[in-house]
Amino acid sequence: MTATLALLLLACAGSATLASGAEGASPSATPPPAPGTLPVQADLHLDTPTQLHRRKVGLDAPSLEAGLAQLRAGGTNLAVMALWPPRTVDWEAHVDALLTRMEAEDARLDEVVLVRSPAEARAAAAAGRVGIVYALEGAHGIDRSGIVGLERLHARGLALLGLTWTFDTRWAGSSGGAGSGLTREGRTLVDAANRLGVLLDVSHASRATTLEVCARSRAPVVASHSDAHALTPHPRNLLDDEIRAIAATGGVIGVNLHRPFLGGSGDLARAADHATYLKRIGGPGVVALGSDFDGLIVPPRDLRDAAGLGALWPLLAARGWTASEVEGLRGANFLRAWDAARAASSPATTRSSRAPD
Ligand SMILES: [Zn+2]
Repeated sequence: MTATLALLLLACAGSATLASGAEGASPSATPPPAPGTLPVQADLHLDTPTQLHRRKVGLDAPSLEAGLAQLRAGGTNLAVMALWPPRTVDWEAHVDALLTRMEAEDARLDEVVLVRSPAEARAAAAAGRVGIVYALEGAHGIDRSGIVGLERLHARGLALLGLTWTFDTRWAGSSGGAGSGLTREGRTLVDAANRLGVLLDVSHASRATTLEVCARSRAPVVASHSDAHALTPHPRNLLDDEIRAIAATGGVIGVNLHRPFLGGSGDLARAADHATYLKRIGGPGVVALGSDFDGLIVPPRDLRDAAGLGALWPLLAARGWTASEVEGLRGANFLRAWDAARAASSPATTRSSRAPD
């Protein structure tokens, strides 16, 4: 891809600058940050592709909740963009249309770059760009093509595979379905995702699906946009045993900012409460952010869009979070899980992912 090439060139240029700076600069000069060492701030679930498709706008449209301007203002530099096939359309054609639109934005906007690995995400952050990765929100999006379809999407940048949306599919039971778990075909899909290094996403999955995926997966499991059921007993929120099972895989849970999932006061402080609860049950390594912006959510009372996310970090500190725990939520935990999924993938991928840094 052109964008990937441009990123590589940028990363190389950054290294050259650093090397010459190290030789030539005076001792008192502050060294520039090494490329790839700037923090990555990730949002694990944004429905922005659907808004671009519906409203025929670009990623730089000011009316978006998580467009380029809002992401940059809020510090998000790794955006997991959801490819959501609504129930009433030709699912696979729709996913292709969403991807095609996003690819056009990637080509049009210098500030945006498709990233295919944590290393590329770190390089994008270091270069001041917003890295984009894709998540399929519901395996009904590969209903006909199956594993071949998954491989095709992976080749176009898919990093997360959501097993279900709000209804049961041939692959797995949904939190909005009858309570079933993984089907036989679903188990082969989990194995295929593991082989490709694609993270499995159990937000929207039934409890049975979540626990079965966590037991079967050789890689960390992600719930990209879900909150804690103990605080707000909504079917989309995670029970304590699901939180523990996800944590045991080395996975992460992205705190969702939709007010009905947050419950309580419905403000950003309540999101901090959910994050703190997830941390208490699953440990600090399990917590991430998956705002669900541009997904027709009812946002917290005191947060209109992704531009205001910076207000969340002090709320975490006020709840006793250490600086490194906050860094974990902001992006380090997700990158760790993504790295591990790639390392656990097929031998060919493992060899290339373990190439010297
Ligand atoms: Zn969703």
